[in-house]
Amino acid sequence: MITAVLGGGQLARMLALAGAPLGLRTRCLDPSADAVAGHVCELLVADYDDVAALGRLADGAAVCTFEFENVPVAATEWLTEHATVHPHPRALGIGQDRVQEKQLFQRLGIGVARFEAADTLEELRQAVATVGAPCIVKTRRLGYDGRGQVRLQPGDDLAQTIDAAYASLTDNYHGGLVVEGMVPFDRELSVLAVRSRSGEIACYPLVENEHEGGILRRSRAPAPNLSPEVQAKAAQIAATLLNELDYVGVLAIELFDVGGTLLANEMAPRVHNSGHWTIEGSVCSQFENHLRAVHGLPLGSTEMVQGSVATMINLIGEMPESDQLLSLPGVHVHDYGKSPRPNRKLGHATVVGQDRAEVDALAGRILD
Ligand code: AMP
Repeated sequence: MITAVLGGGQLARMLALAGAPLGLRTRCLDPSADAVAGHVCELLVADYDDVAALGRLADGAAVCTFEFENVPVAATEWLTEHATVHPHPRALGIGQDRVQEKQLFQRLGIGVARFEAADTLEELRQAVATVGAPCIVKTRRLGYDGRGQVRLQPGDDLAQTIDAAYASLTDNYHGGLVVEGMVPFDRELSVLAVRSRSGEIACYPLVENEHEGGILRRSRAPAPNLSPEVQAKAAQIAATLLNELDYVGVLAIELFDVGGTLLANEMAPRVHNSGHWTIEGSVCSQFENHLRAVHGLPLGSTEMVQGSVATMINLIGEMPESDQLLSLPGVHVHDYGKSPRPNRKLGHATVVGQDRAEVDALAGRILD
């Protein structure tokens, strides 16, 4: 059976690698001839709105899915008319717009930071006045890894910084803005859950995430000092969203933990960087579970392997010497085969073990 994937980056590559033992072949579509999934599966090089290429992508495929949320919704809608597509394009559309996302969270009773949408400079001034500084102004669409955001602090120069934020965020961009109140969070968490075609849901343990320069650097699972109540709340948030969207596949939700209260920041309708540790740390990885779900196969267990803990470190900008990494006992290295570039995710390394302190110490050596 063939899985067709829109996008050919490292997530498609890891989906392809996870599918191979199940006898699943992968075909992906990406505008870039360098797309790294092409090293391990069939790669079609074409724009996402190239209908002939979409036709070749879907030809003979058992199911079509996507690996990143900025593929055009229209491409997934076209595919729905010619093939089976999971998750549903509606989830993709909502996931592309921070305002629609937050409105959905609110409607479902999921907590969010205070927010106001703004399209014009006048609306932005009004939105900042309503939400109150400190706050963050974000583009509604296309922001990622901390890009497309400006933080505003209270003070005499607030009016000036609002104008500057508007100018910088709307330069070359016309999709509207959103102002969010600054959440005084204790930590950032994410929950990954999977829903099958028959509506069965399985949820991974909550992950604690740390960022550097807006890019995920370290994920630890289960999140240290995780109470069963907080895990249950996160699983409830995930299940509510999965059921509402009649979702099939893996969904990731980024959360702020504010003294045990969870606020949803955003969702990613796909496999997620904060779930890479599941490859070695879980009985069934997020990639395999996504494939099982979209192909209508039974879900695998989201339990961690033999009660272990895991830490994942993103390798960003340049890859360490592979000798150095591979000489660390028990470290699992993933090199995506990308050419180095500042702030580019080139690979990741995962440590799995029984003891949190030991696992973190080893992961710390990778960071060093
Ligand atoms: P995002 O692109 O929404 O994931 O934001 C990037 C990072 O900015 C997040 O991982 C947080 O560290 C921080 N951030 C985003 N929104 C807020 C908020 N409303 N309050 C506090 N920090 C935030």
